Amino acid sequence: MPVVGVLALQGAFHAHARALKQLNVEVREVRLPHDLEGLDGIVLPGGESTTMSHLLISSGIFEVLAQRIADGLPTMGTCAGLILLAERVLDARPDQVSCSVLDVTVRRNGYGRQIDSFEADIAVKGLETPFTAVFIRAPIIEDVGSDVEILAVHNGVPIAVASQNVLAATFHPELTSDVRFHELFLNMISSGSTAHSGR
Ligand code: GLN
Repeated sequence: MPVVGVLALQGAFHAHARALKQLNVEVREVRLPHDLEGLDGIVLPGGESTTMSHLLISSGIFEVLAQRIADGLPTMGTCAGLILLAERVLDARPDQVSCSVLDVTVRRNGYGRQIDSFEADIAVKGLETPFTAVFIRAPIIEDVGSDVEILAVHNGVPIAVASQNVLAATFHPELTSDVRFHELFLNMISSGSTAHSGR
């Protein structure tokens, strides 16, 4: 059984844990550097990336987490979690940190106030039928690097992307009962196509 960590500093981590447990994964809440030991993958949930950034630093986990992901640990980031993976973040406070492992430019709260939360049924590469994507003050992906694969698009804007060991979405796949997006992540872990160095 794979052991998948869920970064549990702030945000929607319980919902991710529930989805993963449904898929017969051993879930571990991750708060401190030693919680990263022996993981087969990790999820960075949605929430508030500014707050998570502070807590990543104050808990002392930021450097080791960023290094593990850069070394190939399979990682899924959703909404604020995607922001914490992006190489370029716009409209963030200057001291906001990112693991900087996903070659995208992302703008925080990019959908603006008037439509700050919405749902859309979208086609996702790898899923046979549409997936209901829930957006909550979501970031907008404004640019993707040439090595980043776009898995889903809404109104011409990429909303789910993959790159090497990273899968990321600007929506919240953990907030519906549909666990197929998490399944894509588990497939990524079990395919062993990453540079994950194991336990
Ligand atoms: N607006 C949040 C941020 O910028 C992300 C929102 C979310 O994760 N639902 O951190």
